[in-house]
Amino acid sequence: MTPSPIWPVPQQMTLRDDALPLSQAALVVPLRASATDIAPAHLFADMVADDFGLVVPIARGAAPAGRVPIEVRIAGRPGAGRTPADLPGAEGYLLKVTAQGGQILGRDRRGAQYAAATLIQLCQRRGREIVVRGAEIRDWPYKPVRMVHLYLPGPDHLGYARRYLRDFLVRYKYNGLFIELGGGVRLRNRPEIPVAWRRFVEETFAIGDTSPIYGMNRPLGPNRRFPDSVHTHLADGHYIEPDDLRRLFDWAREYDLEPIPEVQGLTHAYYLTAAHPEIAELADAVFPDAYCPSNPESRRILFDVMAEYIDITGCRAVHIGRDEWRAGGLCPVCRERDAGELFAYDALETIQWLKERGVRAWMWGDHLLRKHTATGSTHDDGTILWDYPQTLKAAEIISAAKPDVTILNWSWALGSAEETDEVIAALGFKQIYGNFDGRHFEGWEERSAHPSILGAEVSSWCAWNDFELGMLHYPSALYAANMMWSNQWPTQTDAEEAVARQTPKLRDRMRRSWEKPRLWSEATTGQRKHVVPIRAACNAPAKGETWDLSGLVSGRHRCDGVPFEILDSVRNEGRCSVVVERSHRPTSTYPHASEPIPITARYGSLIFWQVATAQGAETPHVGDGTNFPREAGELLGWYEVLFADGLTRAVEVRYSENVSAWDAGFQLLYYAREARAGEQPDGRPLVIWGLEWTNPRPHIEIESVVLRGAGALPEVRPRGRVSDARAMLLGITAVELPKWEDYRGLALPGLSP
Ligand SMILES: [Zn+2]
Repeated sequence: MTPSPIWPVPQQMTLRDDALPLSQAALVVPLRASATDIAPAHLFADMVADDFGLVVPIARGAAPAGRVPIEVRIAGRPGAGRTPADLPGAEGYLLKVTAQGGQILGRDRRGAQYAAATLIQLCQRRGREIVVRGAEIRDWPYKPVRMVHLYLPGPDHLGYARRYLRDFLVRYKYNGLFIELGGGVRLRNRPEIPVAWRRFVEETFAIGDTSPIYGMNRPLGPNRRFPDSVHTHLADGHYIEPDDLRRLFDWAREYDLEPIPEVQGLTHAYYLTAAHPEIAELADAVFPDAYCPSNPESRRILFDVMAEYIDITGCRAVHIGRDEWRAGGLCPVCRERDAGELFAYDALETIQWLKERGVRAWMWGDHLLRKHTATGSTHDDGTILWDYPQTLKAAEIISAAKPDVTILNWSWALGSAEETDEVIAALGFKQIYGNFDGRHFEGWEERSAHPSILGAEVSSWCAWNDFELGMLHYPSALYAANMMWSNQWPTQTDAEEAVARQTPKLRDRMRRSWEKPRLWSEATTGQRKHVVPIRAACNAPAKGETWDLSGLVSGRHRCDGVPFEILDSVRNEGRCSVVVERSHRPTSTYPHASEPIPITARYGSLIFWQVATAQGAETPHVGDGTNFPREAGELLGWYEVLFADGLTRAVEVRYSENVSAWDAGFQLLYYAREARAGEQPDGRPLVIWGLEWTNPRPHIEIESVVLRGAGALPEVRPRGRVSDARAMLLGITAVELPKWEDYRGLALPGLSP
C-alpha cells in the first residue's frame, strides 16, 4: 500500500494529477474578513514560510492580478458565501485544489484550521517550485475529543512548546491538551510550593536512580511502601513565571486547542506535601505522595493553588487527577473510615468547589473500577510492599451525586469493554480513553463506537522537550491521531509504515526551531546523498546464530529520497554486514572493533543503516523511570568517527532509541529512519534503522569510521538486567551540506569549493 500523503487519512479524498504552483498563488479571504476569518490563512502562510521559505500573500476579496487564488473561508461568516449541503459538521471542512485555484471551507474555525493543516501536507518541492498537489477532500473528525497529556514545560522550553502546538497538535488535528502543573509555577499566594517542588526534585536527583535496585525510579515510603511516580521532569524540575503560564494557555487558544490544567489532589501530591508535611497521610514518610483527605487543611491548600491556576490560565475546566492512590486510609483518623468514602468525599468536594466557580472537572477513573485499583491489594516481594486502599464504595457515592465530571478511562487494557468502559458508562459518566496507546488497543472500531466514548488522550509522562517526547510521545501520538480523527483505518503494519514516513519530517520540523542544525537528509537535494561502500569491514553473513536476514533485498534502495545499499552476500564471500562483539563478551566469533570503513570526504551527516542482532535490555521509562533519559536505551556500541586531524567523535547505538532487533518490524523510533528492506522468514516486513548523525565538524574531512562494541553495565540498568545484543551495520549513506548552487542554480567559479 502507498501511504496516504495526508495524516491522519482524510475521510474522503481524491488525489488529482495536476498541481498548483505556490509561488504564483495568493490566499484570498472575504473582503471584510475579521481576525477570526484571516487566522486559517495566516496559519497556512506561516507554515509554508517555515517549511519552504516561500511567502504566499494574503489578499481580501480577490487575488491580485496574475495570482492563482486559494480561497480560505469559514462557513456562515460574512462574505463566506453559500454553505454547500455536503459541508461536514463540527470541525469538518471541504478542500479542493486544481492547477487553476484552490478553495478551503471550514464548518467552523477549527474546520478551516484543519483544512490548512491538510493543505500544508499537500505541499511539496518539485525542482525549484513549491506546489500543492491537486486534490478534492471532504473531511471531518471521528471523535470530538482528541487530546494529549503533558507536563508543564520548563523555563527553557517554552519556545519549543509553542511550536509543538502548531507543528504537532494542529498539524495532526488534535484539539486539546491536559497540562499537569504541579508545583511548576511561581505562585504568588503560595510561594512556598514552587520552592519546595524544586527542592523535592533536587533531593530525588541527589538520591540517584533507584531502578537498578528495584526497577522503579522513586524513593520508597515507610516500610518499603510503593509510592506514586514522582513526575520530576515536570517544568524540567524547576518552575516558570505566572505570565509564562498565561502565555502558554493563550498560545493554545490561538489555535483553538483547549488547554486544561491538571492540578493533582489527594494523590501525586508531592508538590503540596513537600511544602506542607503537616497534611501528609503518612507522617513518617520522607517524601509523602498523598495528603490526608480527612484534614481540612489539605483541601484548603489545594484550593488556594487551584484558585491561582484558574486565575492565571482563565481555564473553564480542571483535571483533578486522583489516580493511583497508594497511601490511603492509613493515618489515625482515616484508618477509622472507609477508603472509598474518603476518596469520594475528597473528589466531590473538589468538583463542587470548581462548579461554584463555573469550572468543569475531569478525573482519572481507575478508582471507580474493580478491574483496576478499586479492589485494593497487598503484596510484598521482599523489596517493595505494594499496598492499595479498597475504594469500591467510591463509584457508587460519586455516581449518586451526579457531578459534572468527565472520566479519563486508562483501565482499557486491563479488561474487556464490559469490565471497564461500560462500567463507567453505567455510572452515568462520559469518558475518554486515557494514556491511550493505539498500537496496543484491541477492538478500537467496536469499543470506541460506544456513545459514552468521546475520544482519547495520549500521554507523555516526560519533560516537554524534543528528546523525551521523541522517545515516549511522538510515535504513539502520531499513530493515535489517525484513529481518533479518521474512519479510514489501515492495517497496523500499513499505519506503522505511514507513521514511520512522518517521523523524520516531524523531527526536522521540531529541531529546526530548537536543536539546530536541520536534519540534513531532509534539507538537501537528492544529488547530495551518497552511498558509502562498507565492504572493507564486512565480516558477517545474512544468517547468524541469533538472526536471519536472508530475506534482505540486496542492491540499491531508497527510503523517502534517501538512498542506501544492501550488499549481496553471494557476491561478497557470504558476508553482507559488519558485526562487533560486546566488550563484556569474548571475541571468539566477532571482534570488539570493526575494520575501518574509509569515508575520506566532508559531510554534513552520516546515516548508519543498522539492526541489533537480538533484543536489547529493558529500557526504563524516559520520563518517570530515570534521572538520565539519554542513557535509557542500552548502549550496544558506537561508531567512532575519525577526522583528518586525528580527533574522534562517537555516534551512540542505543537500543530502542535508534535501533531495534532485526525481527522487531516497525517500531516508530523517532531517532532513526525506519526502512523496509526485505521480508522476515515469517513474511513480516524486515525493517532496518537509519541512525542519522549530524556532524558537528562538517568542514573537516572524515577519514574513516570504526564500529565498536560496548560493555554491559548491570549496575546502571533496571533490575541490573543487560543483554548481549550486538550492533550490526548494513550500510552507510553520507549527506553533503547544501551547496550555494542548490539555492541559485548557478556555480560561482572560484567561490564554490
Ligand atoms: Zn488521613
